Amino acid sequence: MRIRVLGSAGGGGFPQWNCGCRSCSGLRAGSLQAVARTQTQLAFSPDGQVWFLLGASPDLRSQILATPQLAPPAGEPTGSPIAGVFLTSADVDSVMGLLHLREFHSFFLFGTPSVQRVLKAENRIFDVLHRADPPVQWQTLSPGARLACRFGEDPSAPPSFICTPVSLGGDYPDFISGELRRTLPAQEAVLALRFEQGGKTFCFAPGVPESSGEGIKAAASSSVAFLDGTFWSDDELIQTGRGHKTAREMGHLPLSGRDGLLAQLPKDSECRKILIHINNTNPILDENSDEHRVTRDAGFEIAYDGMDITL
Ligand SMILES: [Zn+2]
Repeated sequence: MRIRVLGSAGGGGFPQWNCGCRSCSGLRAGSLQAVARTQTQLAFSPDGQVWFLLGASPDLRSQILATPQLAPPAGEPTGSPIAGVFLTSADVDSVMGLLHLREFHSFFLFGTPSVQRVLKAENRIFDVLHRADPPVQWQTLSPGARLACRFGEDPSAPPSFICTPVSLGGDYPDFISGELRRTLPAQEAVLALRFEQGGKTFCFAPGVPESSGEGIKAAASSSVAFLDGTFWSDDELIQTGRGHKTAREMGHLPLSGRDGLLAQLPKDSECRKILIHINNTNPILDENSDEHRVTRDAGFEIAYDGMDITL
């Protein structure tokens, strides 16, 4: 499997257009030892030819253009190596990029029944995806159920890879009406996705709410885990004047603290632990900060745009 990080920042990117926090200002001024990042987006390929997107970030169009492997096949008038998109939630950061894929192209779209309802029932703008002929084909992700993905027509052929969605609990996004929200089961709101091929596994969990022992277990038992690096501390947005909610209230376990994410994965685990979805206020983005050093000392890597991994 090949995995490429197309974007590694949280919502808003780094720097964020309207943010004057220490990190964004420092990056603009050139006084911070840090690199700019687009909003979180992963792509993976089971065979080096066909690619799947994990999430659909608001920066997706420019991320595809920056990635030669995702260009249309040479000599063909239309086409794309992108075969499908796996959605971990209905958050704006996770689905907005679908609108960049509206150019009359068919692909598979994987999401829980609830995420499908959110996009189909209350957000008719996503109907633009169904103009393709054949239209975009939805596939259902059921938490805990292994989904075998095969290329070609032979249903008896061994799967190319297996995807196992793991429910992380959490909440549905604020933009959903109360009426719809009341009918949606909590276990379909936020997923970690685990992909397996030939004994190798990787896990993608850009949003880890506090109550997600299952998600931590799925990550720790993977060869590589991309994990929620959104916030360093619980009150980070309040302290930086960027918001009124805590990290936990926003569905993100902070990195620091006795019960923070860094403390939840054993340092000596075989798993390669990579933080992603890093908010622009997070001090780990400053490569000279104590928080950056503590994170690396705890055995975690910090994702950057263009990071490549082969499993
Ligand atoms: Zn900022």
